[in-house]
Amino acid sequence: MSYARVRCVGLVGVTGHVVQVEADLAPGLPTVAITGLPDTALHEARDRVRAAVVNSGRVWPNRRITINLLPATLPKQGSGFDLAIAVAVLGSAGELPLAPLDQVVLLGELGLDGTVRPVRGALPMVAAVARTGHHRVIVPFGNATEAGMIPGVRIHAVRTLRQLADFLTDGIPLPDPPQAASASCTPTPDLADLAGQGLGRRALEVAAAGGHHLALLGPPGAGKSMLAERLPSVLPELPDDAAMEVTSLHSIAGLLPPEGQLIRRPPFQAPHHTATVSALIGGGTGLARPGAVSLAHRGVLLLDEAPEFNRNVLDALRQPLEHGRVRLARSRGTAEYPARIQLVLAANPCPCAKPSGDVSCDCTPLARRRYLGRLSGPLLDRVDIQVTVRPVRAAELTEEFAGGEPSAVVAARVATARAAAVERWSSLGRRSNAEMPGPVLRRPPWRLPGTDIRELRARLDRGSLSARGFDRVLRLAWTIADLDGRERPDAEDIREAIGLRTGEAL
Ligand SMILES: [Zn+2]
Repeated sequence: MSYARVRCVGLVGVTGHVVQVEADLAPGLPTVAITGLPDTALHEARDRVRAAVVNSGRVWPNRRITINLLPATLPKQGSGFDLAIAVAVLGSAGELPLAPLDQVVLLGELGLDGTVRPVRGALPMVAAVARTGHHRVIVPFGNATEAGMIPGVRIHAVRTLRQLADFLTDGIPLPDPPQAASASCTPTPDLADLAGQGLGRRALEVAAAGGHHLALLGPPGAGKSMLAERLPSVLPELPDDAAMEVTSLHSIAGLLPPEGQLIRRPPFQAPHHTATVSALIGGGTGLARPGAVSLAHRGVLLLDEAPEFNRNVLDALRQPLEHGRVRLARSRGTAEYPARIQLVLAANPCPCAKPSGDVSCDCTPLARRRYLGRLSGPLLDRVDIQVTVRPVRAAELTEEFAGGEPSAVVAARVATARAAAVERWSSLGRRSNAEMPGPVLRRPPWRLPGTDIRELRARLDRGSLSARGFDRVLRLAWTIADLDGRERPDAEDIREAIGLRTGEAL
């Protein structure tokens, strides 16, 4: 036999596609050609696979070898094809019987010594195996727990190419994959252990209920990042499809927690202000690594000390904020990852970062304006809520420490408010107040009575609020009404919304 075919999986974004790996041997000078849109990693695969085969005690055929990956139109990235290529070549040479691999999918990168190394993205790959009606997959031992998350697929785990070859030639059974560990309960930060912060808490609750982006201004030590990292704790758990998407992105990044369970909590990412564009939006060689903005998909992205981020890094957020996904340029084509995030910007009011009222701060009003001005334009424009938080006072610390409302209580109100918004807007194809276009809220049947929005109009006429700001106040007012169980926002809701929008809230 001089031809063989096995199955593997390639990823396009977070979606896996089954790929056929064909090997053909022909007489002639010993060469290896790989066709079917390979990237550079696949060219390297040629040398890696040959070494792995020889070091596993098998004979590499010294003939003209052609390896073809189908469908040719599918971009193929990464090193997960190694194992399939090695088996296809050995099969075509008659070195291994491939009958036991009928309908089996092979995943794995090979080390030069023949070890089978874990691949990034095993979870969405095995999901593709299940989706295409295949029921068995051979994965690297290090990916077995992750692969086991997909129901309906039988997982075999291998540590070495030799182990797989022994199974095929001598029927030595493959070891059972490791059992998934029981879920660890990593404690998530809870609002209960946050003292004071009345306004900050309220802003957080409104942001969570309406899906609004949030800006927290305040001096160092005011608790901005403590508030922000508690936002996921009041958001609803992820539904199945979102949990699968989020877990797949972490799998592709190689950052999956070892428990072998879907990520159900909305993720939280807080990249440092020295982060590069590719750390934020993704990139790298081979299979593109999702950046912080995709790892925060369906969760929260905090930019702490936001004005300190590089201008080009902040600009790179424009696309994901607008479209909910990032598009990364690759050597061939592009890779797209979802990136629907709730953004939290935290900033000191002043470039010297001294507490407010500190006498040693000699920043001019102009310097302060310029500092925050770095955020304006693409970013601050999209942020519905802007509030100033103050350091907790001693009185609050002693009084409220006992009575700090826990996240679960807030999360229940948030869930009710979100359900109200879904019911109201789903016929318009929207799911949250933050997604609502201004014109819809300004026209019947959603237009609010003139008496209720009198102050809002006056601010627009005075120029103390932009047209865009006007719409943002309306969105916030709907969220506040949803939280309080009112059918429509009233004048009081509008007033609170103005405060949350303009930072005048106290
Ligand atoms: Zn200053």
